[in-house]
Amino acid sequence: MARPLPAETIPIGDALGRYVAEDMFARRSQPAADMSAMDGYAIRFEDRDGPWQIAGECRAGSPPCPPIKAGQAARIFTGALMPDGANTVVMQENIERDGDKIRLISEPSPDQGHHVRHAGGDFKSGDIALQAGTYLNPAALAHGVMAGLGNLSTGQRPKVAILSTGDELVAPGADTLPHQIPASNDTMILAMLSQLPVLARSINRIKDDMDSICEALESASDCDVIVTIGGASVGDHDLVAPAFERLGGQTDFWKIAMKPGKPLMAGKLGNSIVLALPGNPVSAFVTATLFLLPLVRYLAGANSPMPVMQAAKACSTLPPTTQRAEWLRAKVDEDGINVFNSQDSAKLSILSAANALLFRPPNSPEQPIGATVSYIAI
Ligand code: AMP
Ligand code: MG
Repeated sequence: MARPLPAETIPIGDALGRYVAEDMFARRSQPAADMSAMDGYAIRFEDRDGPWQIAGECRAGSPPCPPIKAGQAARIFTGALMPDGANTVVMQENIERDGDKIRLISEPSPDQGHHVRHAGGDFKSGDIALQAGTYLNPAALAHGVMAGLGNLSTGQRPKVAILSTGDELVAPGADTLPHQIPASNDTMILAMLSQLPVLARSINRIKDDMDSICEALESASDCDVIVTIGGASVGDHDLVAPAFERLGGQTDFWKIAMKPGKPLMAGKLGNSIVLALPGNPVSAFVTATLFLLPLVRYLAGANSPMPVMQAAKACSTLPPTTQRAEWLRAKVDEDGINVFNSQDSAKLSILSAANALLFRPPNSPEQPIGATVSYIAI
């Protein structure tokens, strides 16, 4: 069973991309007092037709200017506190000024409270500013700052190790012999994780032998999550599960009724959660999207860690499915969702052209053109 990691308190300026660990309350109201939303003149609504005598000037960042009385107005700028007595602002564009007298030059007369930001109109002291589990995007950070918060309690970043296995793998950019391929999966998975609050490291191109795989697994024992890639099927050279067992790992599940991604394994090794992803690049991508990223979000404190399912109209007939759920590479636009003809789980050209994974539930009948289907944006 996974549990969110403990909280840590960090400066709000460092909290982008983290999840809030506990409800954080506003330490101030915003605005703290009525203030002007415009450059103009603060008046009493009762005197809405003017003319007015200017009795003072109110600037942002200054204490309130003196109260105004009947027939008076105060010059006021955006963000300045409203003087006592005033409850409405007339935009400067609607005013003609002659010395210290002003009059309205445009109809209609102002509405009561116009161009005034009222005390607490955005939020009030004691309101929940940032709810536990909230993803801290730039707007949430700004909200936290305005609420008077300088530090935030956030979930710790999970430590993740990515271990990719395969005798055939060579480094990115290296020349390949026909029996070799560039190791693309760890670059891809690291990139997927880079959008989340994690401390990730990778051990790449581990040889397909028990000792090398065991050694790599042991070297990652400080991690909250160990992701292995490849070697998870039942071929003679698929040694991840045997190595995991030799070290005393406990399997939670192995194999899943899903296409692609069938050989997925999940378990526990020491204090680490182990996710063994299949090596085929598309299978690795789909299983990382559906299992690894939600797990990492959950550990980091997210309140909604699962991918967001969206709906679209199918642009072609979708054949029935078997007992395995399917995640089809697809392209979604304003006309609907189009499935790629080839669904080969090794084809990166298709995956990289796709912007959606269309979900087909198990044992689903054929779906006609125009049927509403679910997808995840990728
Ligand atoms: P495996 O799960 O090890 O049987 O691998 C399945 C397929 O994925 C094989 O064609 C591998 O060559 C390929 N593969 C495995 N690991 C990677 C990787 N890190 N990058 C790209 N392809 C890989
Ligand atoms: Mg392999």
